[in-house]
Amino acid sequence: MSLSLSGEKPAVPDDADDGVWLECIECGETFAPFDDVRYTCDECDGLLEVRYADLPTFEDFEGEGVWRYTAALPLEEGVTTQEGATPLYEVPRLEESVGIEALRIKHEGMNPTGSFKDRGMTVGVAVARELGVDRLACASTGNTSAALAAYGSRGGMETLVLLPAGKVAAGKIAQASLHGARILEVDGNFDTCLDIVQDLASRGEAYLLNSLNPFRLEGQKTIGLEILEGFLADYDAVPDRIVLPVGNAGNTSALYKAFRELVQAGELAADEVPKLVGVQAEGAAPMVEAIENGADEIRRWDEVETRATAIRIGNPVNAPKALPGIRETGGTAISVTDEEITEAQRDLAGEGIGVEPASAASVAGLRKLRAEGVVGDDERVACLTTGHLLKDPDAAAAAGNDPEPVAAETEGVLEHLQS
Ligand SMILES: *Cc1c(COP(=O)(O)O)cnc(C)c1O
Ligand SMILES: [Zn+2]
Repeated sequence: MSLSLSGEKPAVPDDADDGVWLECIECGETFAPFDDVRYTCDECDGLLEVRYADLPTFEDFEGEGVWRYTAALPLEEGVTTQEGATPLYEVPRLEESVGIEALRIKHEGMNPTGSFKDRGMTVGVAVARELGVDRLACASTGNTSAALAAYGSRGGMETLVLLPAGKVAAGKIAQASLHGARILEVDGNFDTCLDIVQDLASRGEAYLLNSLNPFRLEGQKTIGLEILEGFLADYDAVPDRIVLPVGNAGNTSALYKAFRELVQAGELAADEVPKLVGVQAEGAAPMVEAIENGADEIRRWDEVETRATAIRIGNPVNAPKALPGIRETGGTAISVTDEEITEAQRDLAGEGIGVEPASAASVAGLRKLRAEGVVGDDERVACLTTGHLLKDPDAAAAAGNDPEPVAAETEGVLEHLQS
C-alpha cells in the first residue's frame, strides 16, 4: 500500500522530472510534475502526491525556515517572505496541569501572515510560476486567502478568493483585502466555496491553491521536520505524539508524509514515528466520525458550526491521505466543544501565547485525551497552534477581560482599582 509506513522506496517512473513526479494514491498512475496543470488523477480522480527519487536525510537540511528543507521539496527556491522557523514554546504551567512529561507548543501563528498556510503557499505559488499560470484562486475559511493574497502579490500574480459570507474572522479578510485579492463572498459554507473553485480551476479559469493541490502539502511537511529537529535537539528523541487541529486535514497528511519519507530514507524507525492526533470541533467533526467508525471514507457534513471558523469544514478533502496517517501512526481523532476550545485559548494566553480559536483545539483535545487516559503521563507531546490571536480579534475579546471605563484622572482610577 502506497501510504503505509513500510519504508519501501517508490519506483522511479519515466515521467519523473529531475527525480520528482506526481503519483495517484489510489491507482498508482504517475505524471510529470510541471508539464500540465493537474490537481487529481486523470485516470481515477484520486488524490495526487509529489514523490522523489532521492529521499531527504537530516544532514541535507541547511539554512533556516521552509527552504532549509529544499532536499524534501520539489523546487530549489520559492516565492518567499521568510516563512517557517516558528517557535517551539515551553509551557511549564500548562504542561503541569495536563500532567505529562513534556509539552511544547509549535506556534504557526508566528509565520509572516500569521498562519501555517504560508508554508504551503511559498511552494505552491512558486510551482504556479513554474507552470506559467497568471491567476491564482482558493476557497478559504480565511487564512488560506490571506496567505494566497500575500504570496500571489509577491509573485506578481492576480488572486481570487472565495469566502463563506459572514463566517470569516476580521483579521483574515483585512489581509486578503490589503494584499489585493479579489474577494468573492459566497452565500454558502466553505465546502460550497471549494466546489465552485474546483469548477473554475477545471475550466482553466484559475490555478487552484487549496490543499487539494499536492504541492502545498510539500511546504507544510516542514512543520513536521521542524518539530522533529526541535525535539531531537532538546530531548534527543522525537515526540511521542503530535496533536493538531483538523479542517481539510492537509497538515495531518503533510506531517505523515514527512515522516513516511524519513522512514523510507532510513532516518526514522517506523515505530518511532509520532502518533498523529487530529482534533475537530464538535459541530464539524467528520474525520472524528470516520475514525470512530473505522470507516475508509468520510461522510460529508452539510451543516457545520463552530466558533473556531478556521476548521468549520464538513468535507475534509485530504481525508484519504490523513486517515491512513492517523491509523498507521497509532494516533486517533477527537472532538471538543467550543467552550473547551475557548478555555484552552485562555490557557495558552496565560502562558503568553496568543492563538485564534481553531488553534486552541489542539490543546483542548490533548487535555481531553489525557483525562481519558489515552495519553500517558510519561509522554512528550507537541501541540500545533495554527494561527495567531490577531486573526480573530472578536473571539479574543469575547474570551478575555472586558475593558473597564474609568474617570480621566488619577484619583478616579485609584478609586476604581480599590472598589
Ligand atoms: C487552515 C487551518 C486549519 C486547518 O488545517 P488543515 O490542514 O486544513 O486541516 C486549522 N487552523 C487554522 C488556524 C487554519 O488556518
Ligand atoms: Zn488514479
